[in-house]
Amino acid sequence: HYNFCAGPAALPTSVLERARDELLDYRGRGLSVMEMSHRGEDFVAIAEQAEADLRELLAIPDNYRVLFTQGGASLQFAAVPYNLLGAGGRANFLHTGIWGKKAISEARHLFGDVHVAASSEGNGHSAVPRQEEIVLSDDAAYLHYTANETIGGLAFDYIPGSNGEGPRRPDGSEVPLVCDMSSSILSGPLDVSKFGVIYAGAQKNIGPAGLVVVIIRDDLLDRARHYMPTLFSYQALSEAGSMVNTPATYSWYLAGLVFDWLKQDVGGLAAMDAINQRKAARLYAAIDGSALYANPITLRNRSRMNVPFVLADPRLDRPFLDEAEAAGLLNLKGHRSVGGMRASLYNAVPEAAVEALIDFMADFEKRRG
Ligand code: PLP
Repeated sequence: HYNFCAGPAALPTSVLERARDELLDYRGRGLSVMEMSHRGEDFVAIAEQAEADLRELLAIPDNYRVLFTQGGASLQFAAVPYNLLGAGGRANFLHTGIWGKKAISEARHLFGDVHVAASSEGNGHSAVPRQEEIVLSDDAAYLHYTANETIGGLAFDYIPGSNGEGPRRPDGSEVPLVCDMSSSILSGPLDVSKFGVIYAGAQKNIGPAGLVVVIIRDDLLDRARHYMPTLFSYQALSEAGSMVNTPATYSWYLAGLVFDWLKQDVGGLAAMDAINQRKAARLYAAIDGSALYANPITLRNRSRMNVPFVLADPRLDRPFLDEAEAAGLLNLKGHRSVGGMRASLYNAVPEAAVEALIDFMADFEKRRG
């Protein structure tokens, strides 16, 4: 079977096998990682190794802290303004789809007015705004965007502000760039130094749900001026090594196994990037070359991670999904808000899965198209 789920998503088979082998007895300790104290020597070693491997994979500079926290990426929609609006100013956003809109809504409800610095609503979220269309407010405290819109299959092909050193207010002063990278982190190399805050829910490219990774430049840790729930506080999490309370220990451990897989088995993020490039190119070519399937996104903004497509006749949706499932191709149904199909091609989805999907699609078109 191949799993094309958008999240929680497939995990590498070798990672699941290793977790299975260590499930009852972690390296002869006589207990499961799930049963360990998070402050004990064994778990602290697991946690530190995971962070070290993530730092190595993404070449995270020393002036960035890495937090392993909880509450999903959705909690970061609130945590970011709580942490970054303390010194005043307004949150600025790029609106490119459903997840970005949720982040905007949360900031607006908590802190009042926000500024949408550019939006792709006008083109139905089929192309991201161009760099020169982004206009920050005079009082911008930060600029937030969603690198890859998981539902729309719309991805940025550039880092906002990267034509200068970073996003700038009209007066030329720089503001921190905040990115929801939930559905694209670790899909390829990244220049972390361009960002103030990066956050990602784990359940796509990192590991199982229950964990959120936050990467934050250390000068942004003390921007908060008012009390917030302690678990929101980047400062508190950073000072406590992400152990303000009991962290999601098992998810953290599994994330560590995924990082190790990326390093040892895949050979790092450049190698992962090449594989992801091939997978997406193959599937989009099959869609574009067919009369039955279509994808509406502008070429340069097509997501490599989430490939939505529709069938020319929606009455074929049900048979397509039933037959795909019978052929071992799972979770191809599009998000309930948009319908159609979506194949998520996260890191753990092997190239063979894409080949199998393409073969099935061609066969289905021949028979039913
Ligand atoms: N942001 C993006 C881009 C997502 O894809 C998702 C979930 O799919 C979320 C945020 C919300 O994540 P969570 O369910 O971890 O809160």
